[in-house]
Amino acid sequence: MKLLGAIEAGGTKFVCAVSDADLTIKDRVTIRTTTPKETMALVFDFFDQYELAAIGIGTFGPIDINKESETYGYITTTPKVAWAHFDFVGIMKERYAVPIGWTTDVNAAALGEVTKGAAQGKQSCVYLTVGTGIGGGAVVDGKPLEGYGHPEMGHILVRSHPEDDFSGLCPYHDYCLEGMAAGPSIEKRHGVKAIELAGDKKVWEIEAYYLAQALMSYTLTLSPEQIVIGGGVMKQKQLFPLVREAFKKLLADYVAVPPLEEYIVAPGLGDDAGITGSLLLAKEAV
Ligand code: ADP
Ligand code: ZN
Repeated sequence: MKLLGAIEAGGTKFVCAVSDADLTIKDRVTIRTTTPKETMALVFDFFDQYELAAIGIGTFGPIDINKESETYGYITTTPKVAWAHFDFVGIMKERYAVPIGWTTDVNAAALGEVTKGAAQGKQSCVYLTVGTGIGGGAVVDGKPLEGYGHPEMGHILVRSHPEDDFSGLCPYHDYCLEGMAAGPSIEKRHGVKAIELAGDKKVWEIEAYYLAQALMSYTLTLSPEQIVIGGGVMKQKQLFPLVREAFKKLLADYVAVPPLEEYIVAPGLGDDAGITGSLLLAKEAV
């Protein structure tokens, strides 16, 4: 029987998996992200064991998703130098002559959450990850949201918290969400690991203020049925009520949204949102 193959490609690790048509995972492997040469050799070692029907790839980016483009299927301008301008889809296609689904890691995670996770049964959701960076993807009408390119929801601008004089860590933009609120920003602002700040109320109030602004923008522009937030920083569970509270204050009941405990939630698939979504991309590509 032919299997579905999937890759969730992250900046620190690649997860590869194969599943049957019901998305029951038959085998999986985690590979460290080093150079394309080293990492892809191990990816091939894994998939070479199976007869595949299709492969879905959800990857860190930015990536080229424009089918008309010469560089469709490439990772483009990533700061991870070894991976910049890497022809990911091309290299996979060369080795495995099967259809390949291709989108961002967070678009894939959004698809996973809508199909089998917290947003199951819905037609739309936003998936935001708050970790080493901040990335967001969305599903609209059951499909990953893409246009000329793909959403880069982590780089929207935010307004400073009155008690915060930090201007952010993003090399591209001052005061963007990622620069102000990703894990490394929290650590730079306070000088210690984010996890050691667990008991410091002010830290999470400021964090929630930034995340809430972003969620308000996503709500006003996309009106998703649900917003799922994952990533290492969201392991601080006290953030969820703080984000909901700040969101409510900012939005000021201007538009109707679902009850906030149901609207702003943690991933139902935990760390498997991305790989599940990538398997779904493969299924759709068949
Ligand atoms: P990645 O972004 O590489 O996929 P993560 O989502 O785990 O990985 O994010 C890593 C970031 O999240 C780091 O900046 C780290 O300090 C922060 N982080 C990880 N775990 C926690 C935690 N329990 N509490 C607060 N911050 C955390
Ligand atoms: Zn930025």
